[in-house]
Amino acid sequence: MERVEALVDVAAIGANVRTLRGRLAPGAAFAGVVKADGYGHGALTAARAAQAAGADWLAVVSAREARTLRDAGIAGPLLVMGALTPDELDLALGAAADVVAWTPEFLEAAARPRPDAPPARVHVKLDTGMGRLGTRDPDLATALVRRAVADDRVHAVGLMTHFATADEEGDRFMDEQLARYRAWAEPLKAVHPGLVRHVANSAATLRDPATHLDLVRCGIAIYGMDPANRDPERHGLVPALALRSVVAAVKPCARGESAGYGRRFVAERDTVLATVPIGYGDGWRRGLTNQAEVLIGGRRFAQVGTVSMDNVTVDLGPDGGGVTVGDPVTLLGADGGERILAETVAAALGTINYEVTCGLLPRATRRTVGAAT
Ligand SMILES: *Cc1c(COP(=O)(O)O)cnc(C)c1O
Repeated sequence: MERVEALVDVAAIGANVRTLRGRLAPGAAFAGVVKADGYGHGALTAARAAQAAGADWLAVVSAREARTLRDAGIAGPLLVMGALTPDELDLALGAAADVVAWTPEFLEAAARPRPDAPPARVHVKLDTGMGRLGTRDPDLATALVRRAVADDRVHAVGLMTHFATADEEGDRFMDEQLARYRAWAEPLKAVHPGLVRHVANSAATLRDPATHLDLVRCGIAIYGMDPANRDPERHGLVPALALRSVVAAVKPCARGESAGYGRRFVAERDTVLATVPIGYGDGWRRGLTNQAEVLIGGRRFAQVGTVSMDNVTVDLGPDGGGVTVGDPVTLLGADGGERILAETVAAALGTINYEVTCGLLPRATRRTVGAAT
């Protein structure tokens, strides 16, 4: 065991993909989103686990991410969803990845013949309200699709949009976006039935089968996290990542003594502290100072004092809780009957679960556990 390990359970990713696929409307295919190094879980690990569980597509954001997957031997439909510089466009197409267009200039650049690559596979994106990528102009989007269909230097593959509020309770804006999307996409689909309509992220996939169309793009849920930062169990999702460290020191801390930078913890009674060698250099954020719990031997203890780059301290209580040097420490995941969710840690930080796992740094050694099923 190393000082910090992020254990990634590939069986859990497989189970989550299966759970999600089992809820799809008839005819909808499934894309596993493995951008940002698989939301911190490892892109290759996530891609292989998702494909083994029946994911038809994979999706990433950058051309480099696509190249990395291809170099590792990952085959099959692969969509690069992000904006691309001209160099990145070459890289994405060289990796036989699909790209997203919303301007005539980009479509033309994608159509330029490349010696080593087949015709570019293009998805056109309508911005129905997210306000980031895509064109807000349905007529332009339609013209781009028509042009791509007519141009044998490119292959028109998909019609997409992205939701801004699918994860919000009581939201109606998603339905507005879907209506705008349908008004644009359905006439095109009627003429070109091979076009793949795709709009749903995890939140939309779990919320409304009307968003499934021909393909869904699920990220957060395949990792067993809840898109609305609530308990993932409500959707039958299993967290795939456990963050573990180890007790490096156990020592008494007398009343009035302190631990850590800035003396942000001063003992109010005689107690025993454990030092756990994880910190913001591993992605365990400094904002968790006096804000987190850990599990040791199936029991819950408060993390106390400043999170530093390399260490945190934990209050074991006056009797030391029976904890000894070398005991495993769980910062995310389950131990005995107890568990700590990324959602809980996110709430303490005032952020979302996505950022908790994406924020794990390379020094936290990724280790896969379980078997792809
Ligand atoms: C990241 C992303 C997704 C996946 O979103 P989740 O909320 O993680 O399911 C889907 N579509 C696009 C365009 C994305 O950028």
